[in-house]
Order: sequence, then C-alpha cells, then structure tokens
Amino acid sequence: MHEISLATNVLAIVEESARRESCHAVRALRLEVGKLAGVAIPALRFAFEAIAPGTCLAGARIRIDEPEGAGRCPRCGIVPIEVAGEPCPRCGSHPIPIERGTEFRVVEMLIDDTLADDTVAPHQEI
Ligand SMILES: [Zn+2]
Repeated sequence: MHEISLATNVLAIVEESARRESCHAVRALRLEVGKLAGVAIPALRFAFEAIAPGTCLAGARIRIDEPEGAGRCPRCGIVPIEVAGEPCPRCGSHPIPIERGTEFRVVEMLIDDTLADDTVAPHQEI
C-alpha cells in the first residue's frame, strides 16, 4: 500500500527532527496533502495508526490539511482542478499544467519536551 510508505517517510522525517530537538515524543503533527497528491487520506491515517506504536508518533494528534487543486490554463489563468489531467473547467483547454494540490509535506510538529510547547517546522517535501 502506497500510504504505508508515505507514512513511513513522514515518520523518518519526524524522528530526525525530534532527535535534533532532543525530544522523545511528538504531541501533534500537521501535514499538508493536496487533493491532487493521489493519497487516500483514510488509508494514510490508518497507516499512521499502524506504524506509530513504539515510535515518537505514538499518541500524536495528526492533522491533515487538504489544499484544493488548481491548474494554470493558458487562456483562463488559475482555475480549480479536481482531478489531475482533466481539462480546464472553463474553456476545455487540455492539458493544463498543475499549479497546486500535489503537495505532500510535514508542515509542523508539536514536540513534547521538558520546556512546554515548542513548535518545529521541518518544511520538508517528500
Ligand atoms: Zn481555460
């Protein structure tokens, strides 16, 4: 399952950042997964539940934002796109390059250490 490897990559990034900050647990994690990223969010959540026990993500709240997709039509400019590869919803131009919505990244994580709340923003593309 594709989502398991994505979750494993996220875990590796989180563990790396957590180690840098000398912390052992992550309380909350925020991801951005664009609607055109081809990721099934329920499967991704399930993957996190499966791999989290025994790692720094055990017990972490995971929030997943899903930015809308958009493409750049040569005639109409930026237009909303729901499925990658579909024509421009206004003029039917095809193909149109994707502008947003394919991102998959760790936006921020809230770590648990002795110092109260501390937010780390790894900003890493996967
Ligand atoms: Zn158009």
